[in-house]
Amino acid sequence: MIVFFNTLSRKKEQFVPIKNHQVRMYTCGPTVYDYAHIGNFRAYVFEDLLHRFLEYAGYQVIRVMNITDVDDKTIAGALRENLSLNQYTQKYIDAFFQDLESLKLKKATYFPRATQHIQEMVLLIKKLLEKGHAYEKDGSIYFRISSFPDYGKLSHYNFEQILTVQTNEDEYEKEEARDFALWKAAKEEPFFWETDIGKGRPGWHIECSAMSMKYLGETFDIHTGGIDNIFPHHENEIAQSEAATGRRFVNYWLHCAHLLVNGEKMSKSKGNFYTLRDLLKKGCNPVAIRYLLMTTHYRDPLNFTEQSLKQSENTVRHLQAFYQRICFSLKNPGGESKEVETFINSASRGFLNGLSDDLNISSAISEIFRFVSNINDILEKNVLSGRDAEKIVQFLKKINEVIEIIEPDVEQLPEHIISLIRERERARKEKDFKRADEIRNNLAAQGILLEDTQYGTRWIRK
Ligand code: AMP
Ligand code: ZN
Repeated sequence: MIVFFNTLSRKKEQFVPIKNHQVRMYTCGPTVYDYAHIGNFRAYVFEDLLHRFLEYAGYQVIRVMNITDVDDKTIAGALRENLSLNQYTQKYIDAFFQDLESLKLKKATYFPRATQHIQEMVLLIKKLLEKGHAYEKDGSIYFRISSFPDYGKLSHYNFEQILTVQTNEDEYEKEEARDFALWKAAKEEPFFWETDIGKGRPGWHIECSAMSMKYLGETFDIHTGGIDNIFPHHENEIAQSEAATGRRFVNYWLHCAHLLVNGEKMSKSKGNFYTLRDLLKKGCNPVAIRYLLMTTHYRDPLNFTEQSLKQSENTVRHLQAFYQRICFSLKNPGGESKEVETFINSASRGFLNGLSDDLNISSAISEIFRFVSNINDILEKNVLSGRDAEKIVQFLKKINEVIEIIEPDVEQLPEHIISLIRERERARKEKDFKRADEIRNNLAAQGILLEDTQYGTRWIRK
């Protein structure tokens, strides 16, 4: 049984998708006015873990991640640099996709861009106007919150709090301060669309309602984001979508807590603001960053420090050395053992149970460490058989589909080098240190350096 904490009910609930073997999921994506920062990646890594876990659990996942390429910030950037909106945002869209690869984040099924879905947004706004949930003032169109009694059900804010929401200067014509813009009338700037509802551009919230329902249907399974998205963004998405369709919009809302740097909110003025690129330029290992962002439970705040990054680098190095060590045993003689099978079954069960409990990553990862330590005990005593090594590799590959940290991203070594490394491991075990050193020197002469770690031997190119 899978359970997730649903922000809507503030409880852990059993997860039952609408269709038996399929999960439809929507993730609020980047606003492409700058490079994404590591706080954003905390959210994207959590969503990646969720996506991969659901596939591991046997579901087909259809996932949408939007790209917000029109808003105040992208418009300001394009005007500043004297570019078209597309020219300005393309650079950051490309960078975003490169960043996804650096962190091994799985691609969504669809990455719809707001500027390519204006028609869908216009249709939705027209529907809201027809049903009396929206009104026009000075060319802009606003959502009438008083027409949607369920407003506040996600954020659990009370009415009075919502009534005190601040209004932008250009929105003073609204009926009520808390009403929000669905469509903004064109001003002086050159970025607007001529449409049935006038000349203007969409507000931010409407894009997520229009694009999620286009690709996932009027009701879908999961919607995610960081906690800052709960109010007003997701609250407004619910209002627009449910007012338009008369149906429940989303069944499970999952939100991750924020990333802090050295215990503080990240901000440019404090000098503790990092994009992923800043960290990679400093030489940080992207897989270690992925590990660090993934291994704090998504609903707990994540404190990013230099020390925690160092620890993650060590852990990733150890796990990858373990994986390589097992690979070196693949050609060993011998059959399957009961012992290895028992360890695999127990780790496999523990891993699945951990993640099934609202993505309890600590519990899932601790199962892997226990497994590594059990197999290392065998390796200390005996030579691992090729059949057992094969089973372990298959198991590690399978769980790596979810966590993507174990299998090193390295070239495959030629077979004769692997045999030498394997022979050296055997020589060391038999205390034939002369032969072991001979092999080490021979490999060093070929540019391969060996490092003996507590989890086995790892190689690097000189
Ligand atoms: P934005 O580009 O600001 O719309 O943010 C994209 C995603 O990153 C949203 O899901 C936000 O909730 C999330 N996010 C922004 N800042 C942080 C942070 N410091 N920690 C975790 N998630 C964040
Ligand atoms: Zn959104």
